[in-house]
Amino acid sequence: MIIAIDGPAGSGKSTVAKELSKRLGFTYIDTGAMYRAVAYKIKEECIDPEDLNAVLNLMKGIDIKLEQSNDGVKVFLNGKDISPYIRTEEIGKIASKIARFSEVRKILVGMQREIGKKSKNAVIEGRDTGTVIFPDAEIKIFMTASPDVRAKRRWEELKKKGIEISYQQILREIKERDHLDETRKDSPLKPASDAIIIDTTDRSIEEVLNQILEIVKKGNIF
Ligand code: C5P
Repeated sequence: MIIAIDGPAGSGKSTVAKELSKRLGFTYIDTGAMYRAVAYKIKEECIDPEDLNAVLNLMKGIDIKLEQSNDGVKVFLNGKDISPYIRTEEIGKIASKIARFSEVRKILVGMQREIGKKSKNAVIEGRDTGTVIFPDAEIKIFMTASPDVRAKRRWEELKKKGIEISYQQILREIKERDHLDETRKDSPLKPASDAIIIDTTDRSIEEVLNQILEIVKKGNIF
């Protein structure tokens, strides 16, 4: 059973997906973390993210593993836990750049389908989980919120982690990433035609979570 949750940065989808998977006892698949893992390596190796051949070459030598943990998921790159280093906007932007390449998407989508198929039940979260990775997912949710609110959430999240960055810069970066994700040719960020759209601008995570749990119950999914 697959619950696919898509949406832009800061829409609350990660928090909701993590909590939902915990409450339902489902595997949590953070697809963005995999793009971020590749981006991390690109930064480490000082590779140009616009250079497709260099990116594909680099991807040949990497092994990405997601491991369930209490606070969501741990990301391992060639055996090293890189989770604390991949949540920055800089890595997000590199991730967004390489996510435009169909060849890169094909490799990661293959890995994501594999993980989903191996798990009995999963909450999968990203940009294309309901449109491309699992178009037959039993439940599809598309979460959204105004750019201002999304930037504020991201700013507060980073502040909590001790990362100092101005709100205006975050807002600019979020808008840039939205643009990259919405305008790419392959798998642009958009709701699946059968997705339930949830606007989280004026709603708490708990409210949204309860709404999704109701949807799951009504669908007799669990
Ligand atoms: O969700 P997160 O912010 O971690 O994703 C980082 C970037 O990875 C996104 O901005 C997007 O460009 C890319 N991504 C994607 N498809 C996914 C998940 C993430 O293109 N399923």
